Amino acid sequence: MILSLFDIDGTLISTDGAGMRAFRRALEAVFDIRVDKKVIRPDGKTDPLILKEILAHFDSSERWCIHSQQEMFARYLDFLEDEMGKTLESGRVRILPGVRDLLHALSSESDFALGLATGNLEGGARLKLEKTGLSGFFHFGGFGSDSEDRTELTRIGIRRGSRHVSPASVDGAFVIGDTPFDIIHGRNAGASVIAVASGGYGIRELQACKPDLALADLTPAESIISFMRTATGR
Ligand SMILES: [Mg+2]
Repeated sequence: MILSLFDIDGTLISTDGAGMRAFRRALEAVFDIRVDKKVIRPDGKTDPLILKEILAHFDSSERWCIHSQQEMFARYLDFLEDEMGKTLESGRVRILPGVRDLLHALSSESDFALGLATGNLEGGARLKLEKTGLSGFFHFGGFGSDSEDRTELTRIGIRRGSRHVSPASVDGAFVIGDTPFDIIHGRNAGASVIAVASGGYGIRELQACKPDLALADLTPAESIISFMRTATGR
């Protein structure tokens, strides 16, 4: 079996910043911090790491405690539901090119299992995928709520994938993502990596991090699937 673990933002969908708008609203509500858009580039980072970096930027680390983290993320999920709803209504949420075809094609192959490797909290990942009609494709995953460290959450996702396909054995795992972090942490977790330039990074920037394959978008499905099979020796 081949495990395919997808990143969400910039890889499967674009939410036109709904996630960061929700994050900023929650920061203001819980920590009374107003964050300028330019303060942080969230791409490829986990939600807990983004929060940690923002609090450090504002020298508010002393306000960091488990209670406030939990409150922040509970508020964030409420705001995310609201922001996703508004962004969908205005037609600014997009499923990225090739994604639907690739997910359908992979799902119909008996030697592939589909999961997630995303910095989103599990609740946020679920919300984004349910709102875009993609949640039914994915059966396991590693999330920002599992670890702030992307290597670790990817390892967790692979472990869950192995359990999901058991008693079949895993021939290989692929991370599909849109940032250098997906490439570096995917590789550190022992996966092969397909990088896609549909998010905030260009194909040259991604190629510089030496993914196994770099693509402008996730088309065509057949050649991506045959690349994964060949790379896994199937
Ligand atoms: Mg991404």
